[in-house]
Amino acid sequence: MIVLPLLKGLWLTLRRFFSKPITVQYPDVKRVPAPRWRGMHYFDKDAKGETTCVACGLCVAVCPSNCIYLEIGEREDGNRYPIRYEIDGLRCIFCGYCQEACPVNAIRLGPGYEYVKYSRADFTLTKESLLSMYEGKE
Ligand code: SF4
Ligand code: SF4
Repeated sequence: MIVLPLLKGLWLTLRRFFSKPITVQYPDVKRVPAPRWRGMHYFDKDAKGETTCVACGLCVAVCPSNCIYLEIGEREDGNRYPIRYEIDGLRCIFCGYCQEACPVNAIRLGPGYEYVKYSRADFTLTKESLLSMYEGKE
């Protein structure tokens, strides 16, 4: 009977019409991404506000996009730190390998998903921008 599928379709439309919408009025309304979401990177900080990165280079080695640049420095106490740490956000594929490989949990992928810039240079995440991102989180 040809009418039955038609009625089923209309019934489905009617049900959807009165159900709660799953869409949001972005950008006025923003959703918190799922906990497993891998968004914009940020650096974990110590009490002094410095990165906890020990410049081991594991994230650089594991990155499949080859988009992490690390310049290693050494403090007077012999501990290593990143003089320069940069991620090319245009090459990054947000795989999360850097976060997984980091032995001190210094580099992390946060909840940020708004990544729109006017110039290509602004897509480079520097040590300073990684430290200033997600203030107060975690
Ligand atoms: S998320 Fe993946 S591609 Fe992006 S910097 Fe980390 S390891 Fe590289
Ligand atoms: S972010 Fe982690 S893995 Fe990368 S250099 Fe620093 S300590 Fe090593």
